[in-house]
Amino acid sequence: MTSRNISRTATMILAAGLLTACGAEQDASSVTSAPAGEQPIAIAIHGGAGTITRENMSPEREAAFTAALTAATQAGYRVLEAGGSALDAIEAAILLMEEEPLFNAGVGSVYTYEGGHELDASVMIGNTMDAGAVAGVRTIRNPILAARAVMEQSRHVMLSGAGAEDFSVTIGLEQVENSFFNTEQRYQQLQRALERLREQQNTGDQIAKVEGWDPAFNMGTVGAVAVDRHGNLAAGTSTGGMTAKQWGRIGDAPIIGAGTWADNESCAVSATGHGEYFIRYHVAADVCSRVKYQGLSIEEAGRAVIHDVLLPAGGTGGVIIVDRAGNISMPFNTEGMYRASKNNSGELVIGIYREE
Ligand code: ASP
Repeated sequence: MTSRNISRTATMILAAGLLTACGAEQDASSVTSAPAGEQPIAIAIHGGAGTITRENMSPEREAAFTAALTAATQAGYRVLEAGGSALDAIEAAILLMEEEPLFNAGVGSVYTYEGGHELDASVMIGNTMDAGAVAGVRTIRNPILAARAVMEQSRHVMLSGAGAEDFSVTIGLEQVENSFFNTEQRYQQLQRALERLREQQNTGDQIAKVEGWDPAFNMGTVGAVAVDRHGNLAAGTSTGGMTAKQWGRIGDAPIIGAGTWADNESCAVSATGHGEYFIRYHVAADVCSRVKYQGLSIEEAGRAVIHDVLLPAGGTGGVIIVDRAGNISMPFNTEGMYRASKNNSGELVIGIYREE
C-alpha cells in the first residue's frame, strides 16, 4: 500500500464499531456540527504540528501515527460516552499519548541542550475556569496527572521544577529516572540540533533568537479538548518542549491562555507550535476571546488567530478547538499537524497532512 493510499484510509468514519474507508476526502481541519437534541459530546486531539510531509513519512510510520491517534481519541471518547467528564476524557487521551514514544510528551520527549528532558503540561476546565500546570519537570512519569493534581489538590495554578516534583511525590504520583523518557530518535534529533547551533556560533548568527521553524529544532506536543454530556469543556496539553532548549526554557504548553484554555462561555483550546510565539500572542485565550466577544464561530476565530495573526508574525503551529455545541475545528499553518477528532455522531476523523 502506498503512502498516499494509507493516508486516504487515515480519513475515516467510525460508526457502530466499524472502521470504514471514506471515499471522498474530508477536510480534517474543518468544523463538524453536532445534531440538535441532547447535549452533544465531542473530543479532538493533536500530536504536534510542523514540517510533516508525505515525502518524509514512511508508510509504516504513518500507520503507527494513525493507530496511536485513533487509540487516544477512542480512549477519551469512551469516557464521554459513558457520561464521564470532559476533564477525565482529555486526561485519558493525553495519558496514552504520553506513554507513546512517537509523540514529544512523556516517553519520547525531546532532549534539552544538556541531554536530559524537562516536561511541561497543563489542564483547564471551562465550568469553573480552574486550571493547573507543571513546568520543567524531570522525574514525573505523567506530567498531565501532575497538572491536574495542581489544579485539584494545591492552592496554586502552576508549579515548576523541583518544587513540582516534591508536590507530585507528596500526592503519590509515579516518579521515574529522567532517562525513562529517552528514545534513540530524539537523541539523534538533539545531535542535529547541536550541530546547527555550532554552525550558528561559527557564522555569528544570533543563537538566542532562532527565527522561524528550523526542522533541526524538532518540536511536537500532545493535547486534547472535549465537551461532555453536562456541557462542560476541558483542555489539556503536555510536551517535552523544543529540542536543545536551554536555561530552563518553558514553552507555551503549561501557560494558561497560551497553550491551553477552556471557558464554558466560549470554547476549549490546546495548542502546538513554536511556543515563544504562542506565549506572546496568547493564542489559546485569544481564540476563545474572539468567540466570546466578537461572536465568531470557533472555525472563524481559529483561522483568524492561526492564519491572520500568528503566521504574519512568524509563528508556526496550530490549535484544536471544541465548543459546547460539539463543533470541532483544527486549524494549523504548518505543512502538517497530527490530529484526530470524534463528534457526537461518532464520526472519527484523522488527519496528518495539510491537504487532508
Ligand atoms: N509548543 C511547544 C513548545 O514550544 C512545542 C510544540 O508544540 O511543538 O514547547
